[in-house]
Amino acid sequence: MKASQLFFPTLRELPSEAEIISHQLLLRAGYMRKTGAGIYSYLPLAVRVLKKIEAIVREEMDKADGQEILMPIIQPRELWEKSGRWSVYGDEMFRLLDRHNRGFALGPTHEEIITTLVDADVQSYRDLPLMLYQIQNKYRDEIRPRFGLMRGREFIMKDLYSFDLDDAGLDVAYKKMYSAYRAIFTRLGLDFRVVEADSGAIGGNESHEFVVLAESGESVIVYCDQCDYAANIEKAECILPENSEPPQPLREMEKISTPGIRTIQELVESLGHPAHEQAKTLMYMADGELIAAILRGDRELNEIKLKNALQVNELFMADETTVREQCGAGFGSLGPVGLNLKIYADPEITRLQNFSAGANQDDYHILNINLGRDFVPEKIIDIRNAQAGDFCPHCGGTLQSTRGIEAGHIFKLGTKYSDAMDATYRDQNGQDQPIVMGCYGIGISRTMAAAVEQKNDNDGIVWPLPIAPYQLIIVPVNSKKEEQMQAAERLYREFASRGVEVILDDRDERAGVKFKDADLIGIPVRITIGPKSLQENQVEVKKRWEKENILLTMEQVVDYVLEILNRA
Ligand code: ATP
Ligand code: MG
Repeated sequence: MKASQLFFPTLRELPSEAEIISHQLLLRAGYMRKTGAGIYSYLPLAVRVLKKIEAIVREEMDKADGQEILMPIIQPRELWEKSGRWSVYGDEMFRLLDRHNRGFALGPTHEEIITTLVDADVQSYRDLPLMLYQIQNKYRDEIRPRFGLMRGREFIMKDLYSFDLDDAGLDVAYKKMYSAYRAIFTRLGLDFRVVEADSGAIGGNESHEFVVLAESGESVIVYCDQCDYAANIEKAECILPENSEPPQPLREMEKISTPGIRTIQELVESLGHPAHEQAKTLMYMADGELIAAILRGDRELNEIKLKNALQVNELFMADETTVREQCGAGFGSLGPVGLNLKIYADPEITRLQNFSAGANQDDYHILNINLGRDFVPEKIIDIRNAQAGDFCPHCGGTLQSTRGIEAGHIFKLGTKYSDAMDATYRDQNGQDQPIVMGCYGIGISRTMAAAVEQKNDNDGIVWPLPIAPYQLIIVPVNSKKEEQMQAAERLYREFASRGVEVILDDRDERAGVKFKDADLIGIPVRITIGPKSLQENQVEVKKRWEKENILLTMEQVVDYVLEILNRA
């Protein structure tokens, strides 16, 4: 491709709406343009990257016995009524009506469609197992579409669904997908971790996320420094270490006036009580009932753990008016003593002795509270976020924490959808049995953004070779000099004939501009042809991920570059 013809409108200015680097760079380097909130048009360079990611995904899906299909984006409401999700999916679903007022959804995911599809044509145990997948646009009306392709309202996903006779079959399918996903993210050239993920309240099901490591990522993960354990923070179990605290004599509770003090930190400052000797009391509405969750003052509550432990459908923080009506105080003065609600306490609370908390009276706190003597929780449950420094639940090692981007998610569904939608097969004894399912997603467009987020420097994108839009760019320093252009064209034809994806920067621009653009769009290898190339038969080769150039002869350069590219 000649750069003069390539449509890659680069921007000199930093796009103001773009908060994270991948969003900025994909706009600046002319990969995409915003069409609406969370809705993007992909320009030629982006399409090439997306196709490469898709090709790797396809190859691994096919290798693992997946078969590609393509299902409709427009999905009839009846199918979602049948699974029960039309009413529970909520505002994230784009809904529309046809001219006869019949309801449809723009597919946010395809369990309903594929379960119906498979059920209609799978009759016998002989028809299973089956793995079907597609790569296509998905639609989710996210509350906060942001970070460009990371959280779009229209995005590209690969979704595979497995159908098996029983749990043992599902295990096999799940393991195949797990390995295929590892192969995919390795081949993409990205640093990633596989983490145990939350699989929702209808428990017991296995789920893993494939997280591309990046500081800006929305996922926080913890991993053990000694064993393989790694988990999304939403899921990571917290264990209580051995109790090394000597028991203290229980002191009498004491109510003290704390005017204006609302936060743990303010209490630390005014009383000198460290946060880990205080309790934090948080109020939630759990399926309509007000409940209290208490944990150590220096810890963060994990709403997903709380929701799973309570087995409720709906959980959200209670508003202050409701809290005040039932507890007699506002936020900041709440505590477990005398509270007429179910209290769920984190296990660490059982270790606190003579701790302080709000008095359920505005501007008062209580000192020397002790569990058992002064309040009795409904249940002790793990409800805090794991954090770096915690003990590994598997081996007792120490957990580290890092951030990343969830790019893939695999999930054992079991018979959740086949039960709801009555999808069965006939077994060897002529009995109907529910089909056992799994689902496996990769965000293709999110993965492109994640790659940029992980692989960039001050000058622009640094694509891993396997997914770079072009592998090589040839830059004649002065396109007006005929000999330089001729030499450049000769190399260009040579590389093209050997199957290298190459750009020739034939634009009438200053060399500095061309170098800047080549770096910005992230082409892995650059060959520069200048006056020296002709006088001394020397060309300059630069790898995008290294600082130094090397000088080679015209004859050497072809083999040298081919070797770099094949090594990828
Ligand atoms: P998240 O927790 O980030 O909202 P999710 O759990 O809703 O993700 P899944 O339903 O498991 O995501 O979808 C499979 C994959 O699709 C995700 O791993 C992610 O890569 C991608 N994905 C999900 N939502 C979006 C989005 N709004 N924009 C881009 N990619 C997305
Ligand atoms: Mg989501």
